[in-house]
Amino acid sequence: MRKAVSWSLFMYVCFGLFIYWYLFYGTSADIPEAYKGTSADPATFMNARELMLSQEFSRTKYLLFFLATPFEWLVLFLILVLGISKRFEDSAKLITRLRVGQVAIYFFYLSLVTTVLALPFKWMGYQVSKSYGISTQTLASWFKDIVIDFWVNFGIMLLVVATLMWLIQKSEKRWWFHAWALSVPFTIFLTFIQPVVLDPLYNDFQPLQNQELKQKILSLASEADIPADNVYEVNMSEKTKSLNAYVTGIGSNSRIVLWDTTLKQLSENEILFIMAHEMAHYVKKHIYWAVASSIAISFVGLYLIHRILQFIIAKWGGVLNIRTLASLSVLPLFFLVSSVLSFAVSPAENYVSRMEERVSDQYAMEMTEDKKAAVETFQDLSKTSLSQVNPPGLVKLFLYTHPTMLERITYLEEYGKK
Ligand SMILES: [Zn+2]
Repeated sequence: MRKAVSWSLFMYVCFGLFIYWYLFYGTSADIPEAYKGTSADPATFMNARELMLSQEFSRTKYLLFFLATPFEWLVLFLILVLGISKRFEDSAKLITRLRVGQVAIYFFYLSLVTTVLALPFKWMGYQVSKSYGISTQTLASWFKDIVIDFWVNFGIMLLVVATLMWLIQKSEKRWWFHAWALSVPFTIFLTFIQPVVLDPLYNDFQPLQNQELKQKILSLASEADIPADNVYEVNMSEKTKSLNAYVTGIGSNSRIVLWDTTLKQLSENEILFIMAHEMAHYVKKHIYWAVASSIAISFVGLYLIHRILQFIIAKWGGVLNIRTLASLSVLPLFFLVSSVLSFAVSPAENYVSRMEERVSDQYAMEMTEDKKAAVETFQDLSKTSLSQVNPPGLVKLFLYTHPTMLERITYLEEYGKK
């Protein structure tokens, strides 16, 4: 056991040092020579201070991401190896004989410990974002979001976990298939209620005040055949300086949303370009593809989890304090394996997402035919989020759901030339 503990800590530290070296020394922040002086070159639209800050901020943010993900794995691993999971299970069994009650108590302990241990990373992320002037959220409001997050996640995940444990108890061989079959309506339901029920828990949604802009956006929407009769603005300026806008929902449940930060910082033509881009996601049915692919991925994923769990329990069940697949103490291993798998598949998902973003950029250009506004939008987005125009390869692979700003601006400049 001690060997497993020190080995995992050693691996984590080595990985941390590598990623620090990679982000701060191993990769260059410069853009390729051929792009120097073009509209994609940050030196043409950022001042020296913004340039320096964007490099520093991006690297620190990426470092936190790459440290936090394996840290979560480390915590789950240690919870197993140190017998903590086993103790949670024993304690839950002492409190109640009811299986559902045991699952709830066990999962509450586990959620509490993992949330508290992940808090330092979240706090550092908040502090960094605050010190670079991106986050404008007060500590109280930030903490309130953490608490809402905890209970929303706990509620949703408890439902998932209780169902999962019930299915495993019923059939240790076929649980993964039954779990998948149940996950299909659940995924669709969550996608459906997210914009209308979950998002308003965190922020205030109001009808857009600016009537003139509202009319322009709605006429753009009717041009794109989107059944919307209202545009919402969400009050985000108390939390962040980042800009955002989106069109969500399924069918007649569609919602056009703009953050108030976007309204304040961008010109009308830039806002219309962004809206056209967001409408493209809706028109091209990207949300349906996302739901369909997540259903397909969870089919393969749950089967793999099943096989991997069986293998690990047979081989190392003793070291990990897990007797059978049906024992509650298996949950950290379940989360560990599924988190590693979803991390492994994220580059492929990001790749698909980047293609969809490219399609939406193209659609927005066709709709607005305003190259100047489009290029300026991306320049302004880079500036307000202090993002790197040309991030390192590993960052793009694991984090970029959108093409890099270098790629997006270059694409716009090339648009219509061929
Ligand atoms: Zn997009």
